[in-house]
Amino acid sequence: MATVLQAAASTNREVDAHISHFVQILHRFDVLDASFLPVSGSIQGQTKVVLLESRDRVGGRIHTDYSFGFPVDLGASWLHGVCNENPLAPLIGRLGLPLYRTCEDNSEELLPGGHGLMVRGYLPVMHTLAKGLDIRLGHRVTKIDRRFNGVKVTAENGKTFVADAAIIAVPLGVLKANIIKFEPKLPERKEAAVADIGVGVENKIILHFKNVFWPNVEFLGVVADTSYGCSNFLNLHKAADHPVLVYMPAGRLAKDIEKMSDEAAADFAFTQLKKILPDASPPIQYLVSHWGKDINSLGSYSYDAVGKPHGLYERLRVPVDNLFFAGEATSVLYTGTVHGAFSTGTMAAEDCRMRVLERYGELDIFQPVLDEGSAIPLLISRF
Ligand SMILES: Cc1cc2nc3c(=O)[nH]c(=O)nc-3n(C[C@H](O)[C@H](O)[C@H](O)COP(=O)(O)OP(=O)(O)OC[C@H]3O[C@@H](n4cnc5c(N)ncnc54)[C@H](O)[C@@H]3O)c2cc1C
Repeated sequence: MATVLQAAASTNREVDAHISHFVQILHRFDVLDASFLPVSGSIQGQTKVVLLESRDRVGGRIHTDYSFGFPVDLGASWLHGVCNENPLAPLIGRLGLPLYRTCEDNSEELLPGGHGLMVRGYLPVMHTLAKGLDIRLGHRVTKIDRRFNGVKVTAENGKTFVADAAIIAVPLGVLKANIIKFEPKLPERKEAAVADIGVGVENKIILHFKNVFWPNVEFLGVVADTSYGCSNFLNLHKAADHPVLVYMPAGRLAKDIEKMSDEAAADFAFTQLKKILPDASPPIQYLVSHWGKDINSLGSYSYDAVGKPHGLYERLRVPVDNLFFAGEATSVLYTGTVHGAFSTGTMAAEDCRMRVLERYGELDIFQPVLDEGSAIPLLISRF
C-alpha cells in the first residue's frame, strides 16, 4: 500500500494549479473502493487527488517481484478470509485472480473461508486500485502542519502541498520513528497509542531452485525451543507450480538476519533447509526482504504488546482535527492484514470527505448516495 495525497476543489471555486484549497492525503485504496464511486461520481471535477509516496513504487508492504520470471511476493501474499465479508474479495473476484487455499497457515482466523494465497501475486490488486490516481512517487513526507483551516504537507524533496484535510496512512513504524514532524504535536493520547502498539518483524527469503527435490506438502518446517531452531518454508510448487521455497523468519531472528548481507541471509535459509533435507541442492536465485530496517516500513505489522491498554488501534485511528488516520495499525478487527488496511482507508476517506464537504456546506450532495442505502460508517469515538 502507499500513502496518498489528494487535492480537491469544490464546484465553483478555482483550483490553484495543483495546489488547491482542498487537499487531502488519502489512503490510495479509498478513492477506488466501490462504495465510494457514487460519491466520487457526484463530485467529479470538484476534487483533485494526489497521493504522496516515499518509495519509487506503489504497494508498500505488498511487493510482488518478477525477477525469477514469475511473480513472488516479498510482503503480503495471503487473503486472510476467503469469503464475501472480506472487503477485498469482490475486487479479487472481479479481476479473476486465482487463490490457493492453504490449510496449515498458523495465522489467526479472523474471517471465515480460510487463507487464500495470491497465486499470481498481490500486485494486480494494487495496480487496479492505483489506476487513475495522481501518485507522486519519491515524495517522503517529513512535516505536517495543521491549522484550523487547512493542512500543509512538506516532503523531503522540498515540495509542499496545502490542503483542507489529510489522511495519513504511513506504517506505524514510521510514526514511531518520528520521521514525520507534526505541528502542533499530536495529542498525548495519540502519541501514547503510537508508542504502545507493538511492531514486529517478519521477512521472506525466497529461494528459487532448478528442480523440485522436496515433498509435495504446503509447508516444510522444524519445531524447536528457540526461533533460531525453528524454520518454516512455504512450498510455492504446491501452490503455484514454481520451484520455490519461501523461508519466513520472524521476531529476533528476523532482526538478526537483517544485519546480514543478502547472500549470507540466503545461505542461512539454505542451511535451515538442509536440516530438513540434508541432500538439498543450492538455490539458483534468491530474494531477501528487509521490512524491519526499510525506512519506508520500519516493521512488518503491528501487534498487541503485553501489558498495554485495550483500544489502542481505535485511538490511533481517531482523527485529530483535519488529520485522518488509516493503515493496518488503525484496524480494530483486522490488524496486520491487507484487508484491514483497506477498510480503514475506506473509512478514513469517507470521514474526511464528509468533514470537508460539511465545511463547505455541500453535504447535500451526499443525499442521493444515502438514498441508495450505501453504508457510511459511524464515527464513534470515546475521546
Ligand atoms: C513479510 C510480510 C508478510 C505479510 N503477509 C500478509 C499476508 O499474507 N496477508 C495479509 O493480509 N497481510 C500480510 N502482511 C501485512 C500486510 O502487508 C500489511 O498489513 C498491509 O500491507 C499494510 O498496509 P498499509 O497501507 O497499512 O501500510 P503499507 O502497505 O506499508 O503502506 C504505507 C505506505 O506509506 C509509504 N510511506 C512510508 N513512509 C512515508 C512517508 N514519510 N511519506 C510518504 N509515504 C510514506 C510506504 O512506502 C508505503 O507505500 C504481511 C506483511 C509482511 C511484511
